Amino acid sequence: MKSVNSPPGNLELEQAIELILSAVPAPSMEIVSTADSSGRYLAAPAIAEVSLPGFDNSSMDGYAVISRDTSAANPEKPATLKMVGRIEAGNLAAKSLAPGECMRIFTGSPMPPEADAVVMQEDTSTDPANPDSIRILDKVSPWENVRLAGEDVRKGDPLCQQGVKISAALIALLQASGAPEISVTKRPTVAILATGSELIESGQSLPPGKIYESNRAMLASLAIRAGAVAQIMPLVKDSLSETSSALREAFSRYDMVITSGGVSVGEMDFVKPAFEQMGGKLEFWKVAIKPGRPFVFGKLGNKLLMGLPGNPVSAFVTFLLLVRPAILRWQSSAETCLQMETGTLADDVWNDGGRRHFFRVRKDAQGKIHPAGAQASHMLSSMASANALLDIPPQSRWEKGRTVSVLVW
Ligand code: AMP
Ligand code: MG
Repeated sequence: MKSVNSPPGNLELEQAIELILSAVPAPSMEIVSTADSSGRYLAAPAIAEVSLPGFDNSSMDGYAVISRDTSAANPEKPATLKMVGRIEAGNLAAKSLAPGECMRIFTGSPMPPEADAVVMQEDTSTDPANPDSIRILDKVSPWENVRLAGEDVRKGDPLCQQGVKISAALIALLQASGAPEISVTKRPTVAILATGSELIESGQSLPPGKIYESNRAMLASLAIRAGAVAQIMPLVKDSLSETSSALREAFSRYDMVITSGGVSVGEMDFVKPAFEQMGGKLEFWKVAIKPGRPFVFGKLGNKLLMGLPGNPVSAFVTFLLLVRPAILRWQSSAETCLQMETGTLADDVWNDGGRRHFFRVRKDAQGKIHPAGAQASHMLSSMASANALLDIPPQSRWEKGRTVSVLVW
């Protein structure tokens, strides 16, 4: 069946990404418990409900003092102060401190009124003959060993911007500043289909000529890591009717449908005709990259079709370059690209072809970039040992020792 809309072919990668990102609907938000928000994206700036620290408190175990009382203290001539109380963490001092007095204090205990410093325990000694007094062996400056109210965060301050990914450290900041719940963007729900009459579910016996299906679990793992809620769908045989009903089912329940296989030029490739038959609009087909040229992007209302090639490496690379940005933008992530890092080529690399080649490489701990092995798009072993992609322009040869940028995942 011929494609009705004849979408543009052979797009530049950047154009393709732009088209995809501009089709992502505006994010919707939901409230979640801060404790469960790891990896989500803030839908609105978070504001501090309380200051941090909330009150002046001690950063040491020791004695709260009036610093002036210690100004002449040294080990030979200690200052002797009267111990008038004890403040455990979580409690307030029973009274203010007066000149000549000190109070036992612990890390995190509120400072008593009028005290302006803490002498750490190691700079004091006790006199067994005089249990109510403490000898101060060193002087302290005003506010020494005191954590001041609001010096970290002030009540009402913005804690971080919309679109920031929530990390463990940010969860701590949000909890400490009084936000038990926060507003985050909704995750896209993603259906993952694999087409191909040759495919067999892993765990079943393998008849001659068939292969174990391996794209769905890989794509689900990548989609989940990008923040999506992923659902693996049943295998789809190469027929228009099976492909149509699988797409209908997936689009009725999920925000985004990722297919693998069936997007080439063969008469057994049914993803495009099946999608158009159900009213989907193909936005483009083919991107000028290797691996992964046949890639279909389509829209059905607010929902997106990502039609990936079936070759596992092509599916992997097109997911990282074209699908991952959409999943991130869906959540209003500030970042949508893979992280760029530089390194030094450990070997010559070349691209004799006419398309940009995204080479599978491994960046080691010393920053050396090693080709990950054979680069054909059905070779899973080199993909499994790679941790980055090297974007080599058409018709170019790069020599060992050259400084290059790679995209890491
Ligand atoms: P296609 O894009 O459907 O022409 O498939 C290209 C190549 O990838 C063929 O060798 C397929 O057998 C293989 N292939 C397609 N889908 C999968 C899959 N889900 N798992 C493993 N190999 C696949
Ligand atoms: Mg196929």
